[in-house]
Amino acid sequence: MRALTWEGKQSVAVKNVRDPKILRPEDVIIKITTAAICGSDLHLYNGVIPTMKKGDILGHENMGEIVEVGSAVKNLKVGDKIVVAFDIGCGKCWHCEHEEYSVCDNSNPNAHIAEMLYGSSGAGLFGYSHIYGGYAGGQAEYLRVPYAETNSIVVPKGIDDEKVLFLSDIFPTGWMAAENANIKEGDTVAIWGAGPVGQMAIRSAFLMGAERVIAIDHYESRLQLAAEAGAEVINFDKTGDGILDEIKYLTGGVGPDSCIDAVGLEAHGQTVTAMMDRAKMALSLATDRPDVLRQCMQACRKAGTVSIPGVYGGLLDKVPFGAAFGKGLKFGMGQTHTQKYMKPLLDLILEGKIDPSEIISHRIDISQGPDAYKNFNDNKEEYRKVVIKMH
Ligand code: NAD
Ligand code: ZN
Repeated sequence: MRALTWEGKQSVAVKNVRDPKILRPEDVIIKITTAAICGSDLHLYNGVIPTMKKGDILGHENMGEIVEVGSAVKNLKVGDKIVVAFDIGCGKCWHCEHEEYSVCDNSNPNAHIAEMLYGSSGAGLFGYSHIYGGYAGGQAEYLRVPYAETNSIVVPKGIDDEKVLFLSDIFPTGWMAAENANIKEGDTVAIWGAGPVGQMAIRSAFLMGAERVIAIDHYESRLQLAAEAGAEVINFDKTGDGILDEIKYLTGGVGPDSCIDAVGLEAHGQTVTAMMDRAKMALSLATDRPDVLRQCMQACRKAGTVSIPGVYGGLLDKVPFGAAFGKGLKFGMGQTHTQKYMKPLLDLILEGKIDPSEIISHRIDISQGPDAYKNFNDNKEEYRKVVIKMH
């Protein structure tokens, strides 16, 4: 089959590789119909996530039609169209039983390596390096889905793939970010980052009853989409260091009820490389400044909530923890427990309350994959979300 493979820093290829096979009784094989390239895939593209190997198949936002089922699979059948969660839960461990799928105890065979590097480990991920289990991704013609009954949802026949594809990652991620932000009717929520995750968080916050959402980014096209969803927008290139004053002004001096960091390590492009250093020497973090996270903590009103869907690794320095303690802030964070949200969020889509496909900026064929990675990486003003049409 054809697949997009990681070939080294800033090198992606279309290759002919072996078709996946059923390896365990709980597996299914799907024929990919649509897959997406995620902002997180650019971390792999830029070589900042350790333990990728040449030839690894990329892709963790996947959906397709089941073509083969393992002997233990009871509730899925050949012909079903499924969306697959980006993180893999075994469905049986203590955490999976408590709907904490992203910290599954069993799905990541290399969890011990992640623990050595970062002091923590999570579930296995599709197409996201060997510290996350080395699972093949779905930017390919076929994909093996482990523990398939736990990690997928059947979608109704005839629904447009693009409407439901993002149940695989960014819609549940934006939703969980809003849930972690403790949003109550009438609240004001500030969201840093108007990328796909921020966009989904904006829409989720409104659905949860937020009265005002303030979106912060510097790409005008992304801010415009945020404004179309009802957000007030701030371009941080224009405010510079005045960003906190601007938020204060907009909230009558009080600060937002909750602040969401949908940026993570990418802030100002400085901290991702520091993440690599962490693997070698934690001391190199002395100058590492997580600007967005700091701004969230500083801007938030007293006794408000800071929610962090943006990804962090290793140690962070210069975090105003004393201020957070003094203000009595609450925190929520972590990799998304995607499987927990797939059914209720599918219902919201079917009820017409939200259409995640509006964030798509480009549609491509797999042969255009290498160029799409390059363009997405070089031009985030124009490229927001790229989907690959497979079958
Ligand atoms: P993205 O890179 O497309 O969007 C990030 C946005 O943040 C960009 O538009 C960028 O301009 C903006 N930004 C950068 N610096 C900023 C600053 N100082 N202030 C305000 N905005 C700033 O990424 P995405 O796909 O939307 O993902 C966002 C984050 O969520 C990433 O860290 C990603 O890895 C993470 N993520 C987490 C989960 C999870 O399970 N928690 C799942 C998916 C993605
Ligand atoms: Zn588990």
